[in-house]
Amino acid sequence: MMKKRLSLLIAVIALLVLIVVIVWLVVQVKPSGQMANMNPSFDSTASQQMQGSINNQNSPDVTQAEPDLEQPEPEPTEEPEAPPTPTAPDASTLFAEMGVVEDYRDVFVHGNKGAEHQKYIMLHDTEGWGSPSSVISYWSGNGNLVAAHFIVGTDGSVYQCVAMDKIAHHAGFGNAGNNAKYGVTDESRDDKKGTVSIGSAHPDYGMNSYSVGIEMVHVGGGGEYPTAQLEALDKLIAYIDAYYGFESAIVAHNEWRTSNSDMSAEFSTYLANYKNHRSYKSL
Ligand SMILES: [Zn+2]
Repeated sequence: MMKKRLSLLIAVIALLVLIVVIVWLVVQVKPSGQMANMNPSFDSTASQQMQGSINNQNSPDVTQAEPDLEQPEPEPTEEPEAPPTPTAPDASTLFAEMGVVEDYRDVFVHGNKGAEHQKYIMLHDTEGWGSPSSVISYWSGNGNLVAAHFIVGTDGSVYQCVAMDKIAHHAGFGNAGNNAKYGVTDESRDDKKGTVSIGSAHPDYGMNSYSVGIEMVHVGGGGEYPTAQLEALDKLIAYIDAYYGFESAIVAHNEWRTSNSDMSAEFSTYLANYKNHRSYKSL
């Protein structure tokens, strides 16, 4: 009988211990479940209110954000290279590229021209062979005080003996009426030293005061102009244009004075090309 009671007591104790363990386990597990279930009012009302509040607060932002969403930031890609802008080289660059030999002679200067008076680029033939330096020596030695601003050699070398803003005696007298025709009526800035009249058919003398003269070393009937010489002339004209900031009209000496021998007949095609597009090359 005692043994049976003891067994019953043990069973009751074991059951109590089991209950305690179960209760302990339930207490351990409960908190997470409790949060989800203990406050249904929080979930259904407070949570909804909070959600509404969040929506209200966010609505404008969402609206404002829409453009960003519609226009997403472009993916970072390399900037496309802008096409090179064709820019004409400046005057000093062209001058350096030509390797102009400067051999200025005061004796060739007959007054001030200035950019405001610049209108023409006049082309000549030397009607004699030789290097540009020998041409300058010839002009200097003959006492005529005649010279052009530039000389272009057959090898493409370029010499300058008069500054562009000074008057040089390269055009001389022109056909009657040409001062008015070319708009070069002011002869007062030219000292006219060394000038000798060549007759009543050629009384006009204004071109010197409005032009830059270029002599091409060449003799009429002497054959083709070398490519190097023509290319140098292209660049020299580009330089003069860049120097003044505008394109001077290109004229041949024998347009100013029709009895003159230069330019040579071989130059006629090039002259037309120069007048049309400022290069010896045909387009
Ligand atoms: Zn000439």
